[in-house]
Amino acid sequence: MPRAELDALRWRRLRATLERTYASSAFYRARMQRAGVTPDDIRTPEDFRRRVPTVDKLDVLADQRERPPFGSVVAVPDALVEYCFLTSGTSGKGQEVHAYTAADVAESLTSWAASLHWAGVMPGDTAYHMVPIGVTAGPVTLLSAFQQYGLRTFAVGNMEGEARLEMMQRFPPHFFSTGPVYLRRLTTICREQGIDPRRAFPALKAIKLGSFGFDVPWAQEMEEFWGAKLIDTYASTQCGGGIASTCEHGTYLPDGQRGMMHFPEHKVYAEVLNPETGEPAREDEEGEVILTAFGREAMPILRFRTDDKVIFKSHRQCACGRPFDGIEAGTVSRYDTMLKIRGMNLWPEAIDAIVLAHPEVDEYNGRLGVAENGREVARVLIEFKVGAPSDAAHRARVLGELRSKIKENTGVGMEISEARPGEIERFAYKEKRWKDQRRQQL
Ligand SMILES: [Zn+2]
Repeated sequence: MPRAELDALRWRRLRATLERTYASSAFYRARMQRAGVTPDDIRTPEDFRRRVPTVDKLDVLADQRERPPFGSVVAVPDALVEYCFLTSGTSGKGQEVHAYTAADVAESLTSWAASLHWAGVMPGDTAYHMVPIGVTAGPVTLLSAFQQYGLRTFAVGNMEGEARLEMMQRFPPHFFSTGPVYLRRLTTICREQGIDPRRAFPALKAIKLGSFGFDVPWAQEMEEFWGAKLIDTYASTQCGGGIASTCEHGTYLPDGQRGMMHFPEHKVYAEVLNPETGEPAREDEEGEVILTAFGREAMPILRFRTDDKVIFKSHRQCACGRPFDGIEAGTVSRYDTMLKIRGMNLWPEAIDAIVLAHPEVDEYNGRLGVAENGREVARVLIEFKVGAPSDAAHRARVLGELRSKIKENTGVGMEISEARPGEIERFAYKEKRWKDQRRQQL
């Protein structure tokens, strides 16, 4: 489809989404009324960008707190809400509730089809889904999407790495889906056990990654070791699933430059804007992703600020010739302080609230890394106050209490230890307390 034709289609869908959302979602109607704008005022994409207000996670949470559980954003009668998911951030900012109608679920099932097709994955292929299934939308809709596409899917997210590899040797995969840190872990186990994926899994075509940055030499090493192409993807619970994916040209180009992920722009209206000026990012410029989904029934999404920091790529920058713009592969990060640990969203404020509230703790530092065995680890180093009881048994008990409390409140297990003298760094900005070394340690 030529770009001009795609633009015309997008504009028609955007207009329809705007009108339907204004008519059926009290939340969005009130926001637009406060901004003094109605759908009739929006005559060009520029009007849309300049006049329709953006919305963020805190707006949605405040609305849902006021009118639990779904908020006034819901645009369908309650009986039509068939599925309900929660976001994974259990503390720090709060947990959003996401409502889906049957049609929303059906739509999200197709959200990964292009990505699979571009990677050469075919119906009938054997796939492994390696993310634990829970109450968040991503893993559930991804699994359903694989099944809907016709993949024979093994959901092994709750198995240990060794057991997964054993399964994969019994039922050799054409494709599997995991994250960069876990791929490193599987690679480590393969090396320990003398498994050569090129021989053990000769039909493997592609490995889907997502939501985590990586460097090109790492991607080259993984493709060489596994004998398969890496697919990088970008997803959003708010939009009901897959938002962007690399095409057959992959995550990097022959000259070592990074590749791009294309937005399926017939399904989603993705803006990449400079957060200071609000103007669209140009090719290779940094910006924030603002999402509007076409055709979401239960919970429309209109100009949702993701806080995701990306590098914009135009469709002209990919050799595949598709008309879809997108973002650079392997470099999605955050504007806010949110950390993603083993697939869970976590705000440092949640840890601050637990650790710094303890009367004997003076300061702490957090470190995210990848251990020798390829496991993702979160370490918290504690500095006790001068004058706090110093006997070892007492301090060990305090550390144990903090460990349990963090696990209980955030769902993330962390290693907690007392810092050596001088080990703790102090910062004017609290977000610096956390140092993420995972990408370097992949
Ligand atoms: Zn392409």
